Amino acid sequence: MALSRALRYCQRIFSWIPVVIISSVVLWSYYAYVFELCFVTLSNHLERDPRWDTKGLELRSGHIAFLLSLSQIFLLPSAVAYLLIFHVCFIMFCWTYWKAIFTPPSTPSKKFQLSYSDKERYEMEETPDAQKQILAEIAKKLPIFTRAQSGGMPCMKLKYYQDAIRFCDRCQVIKPDRCHHCSVCETCVLKMDHHCPWVNNCVGFSNYKFFLLFLFYSMLYCVFIASTVFQYFIKFWVGDLPNGPAKFHILFLLFVALMFFVSLMFLFGYHCWLVAKNRSTLEAFSAPVFPNGPDRNAFNGGISRNLQQVFGDDKKLWFVPVFTSQGDGHYFPLRTMRESENPLLANEEKWVEDDGSDEESPDESLLHVSLESNELTASRIPDCSCFLLFFLFVGKRQIK
Ligand SMILES: [Zn+2]
Ligand SMILES: [Zn+2]
Repeated sequence: MALSRALRYCQRIFSWIPVVIISSVVLWSYYAYVFELCFVTLSNHLERDPRWDTKGLELRSGHIAFLLSLSQIFLLPSAVAYLLIFHVCFIMFCWTYWKAIFTPPSTPSKKFQLSYSDKERYEMEETPDAQKQILAEIAKKLPIFTRAQSGGMPCMKLKYYQDAIRFCDRCQVIKPDRCHHCSVCETCVLKMDHHCPWVNNCVGFSNYKFFLLFLFYSMLYCVFIASTVFQYFIKFWVGDLPNGPAKFHILFLLFVALMFFVSLMFLFGYHCWLVAKNRSTLEAFSAPVFPNGPDRNAFNGGISRNLQQVFGDDKKLWFVPVFTSQGDGHYFPLRTMRESENPLLANEEKWVEDDGSDEESPDESLLHVSLESNELTASRIPDCSCFLLFFLFVGKRQIK
């Protein structure tokens, strides 16, 4: 017992290693860009520029000359612009990364937990059939449309298994639509996308917007660094600037920025596609199952509505890392649902939280799910970078 607790403690410490690596690279990039590029390299460049009078500096020795050259850098418009834009990108990157890491994953509300009496009934039943019947009765009061995977059962039994309500034995909750159990976080996570080792957190309903913005601002940060550093890389290469430690920082800065940009481009592109289709990474690999069968496009309400579901109604806040996603993560409108039946669009909750009263069961007509795009076979894996594949592989192994 003590050993397993110690192992878990070690695992928690080791799980921060990817975050420490990313943070170290970012801190180094800050030093390399601000100090080695903007101050040292641009300062050297300035001294070689005949338009700038630096004779006075030569008369002063040591630190004073250096500090004067630093102060003079602020007179160079390109350096000021570089520093200004760089700091905007850097702050947005840090802000979104922080929010992606430290926003706790949303878990199912009390409404999805079994009451004491239901739990007793459930545990007293010995056969799985009777237990499933109890769960089906309880789920009638909840906004649940998805069903458990058939698990490759024979076709004769398919209908039966698609009627099984999704239940998490570990958390003892009925899983809302798009909710999955993460074995790393040891909890059920609403609209779980994947468990990301690079943010050491579950990416789900509570932080999906932050995660997307993190990818976006990371790309912007890398693009800005690569595009401004490139000309100085060439100058070092052709000998226009003197050799020194700055040369190696500039060289690695360009290399690292380009490497991260290429990886992030595939990952961000893939997530843009997922948002446009209103799918989570897990749903892209394994279609959610409904009473009529699996449907990969069940939550797809069109690009505009899909974007609003993640980023909110106010477009001014789309690029700001504050929570603006629609709904509470327990319920997502289906593609076949009429607008008047959609609580997210009608701005009212069909299933009210925390009032303690029994709600009406969902209209049976809402359960009609189109089967046009049924895909019972394994999903195609998108053509992405190794970074993405590793990322998904690690995440997928941790889903129950
Ligand atoms: Zn769970
Ligand atoms: Zn997790």
